[in-house]
Amino acid sequence: MATVTFDGIWKRFPDGTEAVKELNLNIDDGEFVILVGPSGCGKSTALRMVAGLEDISEGKMLIGDQVVNHLTPKERDIAMVFQSYALYPHMSVAENMGFALKLAKIPKDEIERRVNEAADILGLTEFLHRKPKALSGGQRQRVAMGRAIVRNPMAFLMDEPLSNLDAKLRVQMRAEIAQLQQRLGVTTLYVTHDQVEAMTMGDRVAVLKLGELQQVDAPQQLYDNPRNLFVAGFIGSPSMNIAEGHLERGDDGPHVQVGSFNIRLPDAAFERYPRLSEYFGHRLAVGMRPEHFIREVDELSEDMRFRAEVRLVEALGSEMLMHFKTDSRPVISEDIKSALDDEDAFAELERTASEGQDFTGRFDPSNP
Ligand code: ATP
Repeated sequence: MATVTFDGIWKRFPDGTEAVKELNLNIDDGEFVILVGPSGCGKSTALRMVAGLEDISEGKMLIGDQVVNHLTPKERDIAMVFQSYALYPHMSVAENMGFALKLAKIPKDEIERRVNEAADILGLTEFLHRKPKALSGGQRQRVAMGRAIVRNPMAFLMDEPLSNLDAKLRVQMRAEIAQLQQRLGVTTLYVTHDQVEAMTMGDRVAVLKLGELQQVDAPQQLYDNPRNLFVAGFIGSPSMNIAEGHLERGDDGPHVQVGSFNIRLPDAAFERYPRLSEYFGHRLAVGMRPEHFIREVDELSEDMRFRAEVRLVEALGSEMLMHFKTDSRPVISEDIKSALDDEDAFAELERTASEGQDFTGRFDPSNP
C-alpha cells in the first residue's frame, strides 16, 4: 500500500487546453478519496496522470516516496478499473481476472489461488468459467474489480466504474465497492460526476471545477461547510437554494432579508461563522438547503414565515420535493457579482432573480 501525492500538477494539452491546474492533493495510505466535478473538469485526466496514461506537464506525482512522472504504467504497480470494464470477450472470467498475473509470469498455481480468493470475496466463484457476455452488468463490473484485486496493487484507480449500471444496481455496487475498499484497505482514488457516490463512498471528497481544486474534505464537512458557491451548489440533491440577501441587525436580533423573506439568525450562526458579523449592512449570497424549509407554520414565529406559490410537487414516496416561488424579486448588485468569483452560481442567481425567486424545499410527509 502507499500514499498518492499530486504536488503542483498541471496538464496542458497540445491545443492549449489546461485540463488540470496546479493540483495539490495527498491521498493517505489506505484512504478512499473521491474526485468529483462536472463533465470536463479534469477528473479523468488527473486519474490518468496517476496511472501513467497521460504525460504530466508540470509538477511531481508521487506514489509512496517515489516520484513516478517518468515511470511507465506497468512500473507504477497500480490497478485501474474503467467505466467500460475492458474485459476480454474471448476469455473466461477466471482468465480475465488472472491475465495480468500471467503476463507477469506468476506461477500457475499462484494465479489460481489469487483468482479463487478474489472470486470468493466478490461472489464470482460460480461464474469463473463463463465468458463476459454470459454475465449481467453488475457481474461484469465485479470481474473488472476482481482483475484489479488479484494484482494486489499499491493503489486502485477507478474511473466512473458504475456509470453503465442501472440505478438499482448502482446503489448496490456503490455499497459493495465501499465495503470492499474498507476490507482490503488499499489506497483508492475514485472518479465520478455523481455527487451521491461522492457523498456516500469515500473518506474524503475532492471537488474539481475547470481543472481547479475547489475543496477537499470529509463528505459531511463539505455539505455543512462548503468553501464557495460552486461547492455549495454542486454538493446536495436537490441543490441548495442560493439567493442574494441583506444582513441586518434588526430590533429583535440579526436577520437576513431575502426580498420579502426574512430569516432570523440564531446566535449559534455567529459562533459558528465569526466572520458573519463583518457583513452587517452588506449584501451577501444566502444558501438554504431544501430540507431546512418547514411547511408547518405553527412551529414558526411570525417573522420567520413567508408566503410562496407552489409551482410543482414531486412525491418520492418517503419524501416530497416542493418547488415554490416567493413574492420577492431580488436584484443582484454589481458589488456582489464582483466580490464572489463564481460564474455558475451567478448565472443561477441571475436566472432566479429575473424570474422571481424560485426555491426548492423538501418535506417529510410523515411529519408534515
Ligand atoms: P467527464 O466527466 O465528461 O469524463 P472529466 O472531468 O473526466 O469529464 P477530462 O476528460 O479529464 O474531464 O477532460 C478535461 C478537459 O480536458 C476537457 O475540457 C477536455 O475537453 C480536455 N481534454 C481531454 N483530453 C484532451 C486531449 N487529448 N486534447 C485536448 N483536450 C483534451
